[in-house]
Amino acid sequence: MSGNDQIETIVRDVTCVACEYNLRGLQGPVVKCPECGAVTDVAALVASRWGGPWYRAPGFDRLARPLAVAVVGWLLTVFMAGVANATRAGFELLVLAVVPAGALVAWVALIVATGRRSGVEGVMLALLAHLIYSGYVFGFIGFLMTFAGAFMPDMSWLVVACGFCVAVMIACYHGERFIGRRCIARYLAFRPF
Ligand SMILES: [Zn+2]
Repeated sequence: MSGNDQIETIVRDVTCVACEYNLRGLQGPVVKCPECGAVTDVAALVASRWGGPWYRAPGFDRLARPLAVAVVGWLLTVFMAGVANATRAGFELLVLAVVPAGALVAWVALIVATGRRSGVEGVMLALLAHLIYSGYVFGFIGFLMTFAGAFMPDMSWLVVACGFCVAVMIACYHGERFIGRRCIARYLAFRPF
């Protein structure tokens, strides 16, 4: 089920927080009950029942595009640096210069496009996504390395370092959920990222 379908399925069963009147058909992230007038935060309700990964929330993929370009550009640069170092050929060195420059131009263009479409909030969340997924990677690698005892002179440091890495990954999960919740609210407000 796509993120949009999941939201539509949840929204079908949303009822008023006060009188349980079915609020199906009412539009927006926050709606007022036609029976009793109570206000229901539909976006928060949908987020609390969200079953899938947060990156499947509608618009999340669009926010993650600059990050995807940054990752692919970085991987290609590292790969080309290896090739150029091995061959010392002019063509590879030229590609090595062009790849990061091209990736940077594409990244800036995507950030600008995000700002045009979704405003400052979209740009901030797109940048936050870089921090979150870098944090996941470094937290995970750090956990594996400390668990393997690579740099650890004694056990107490091992526990502290593993705990720190796990805490980083938990913080990243909360950041990812934050973006997902904003995606849901914006989708319900007909202004998807
Ligand atoms: Zn009501």
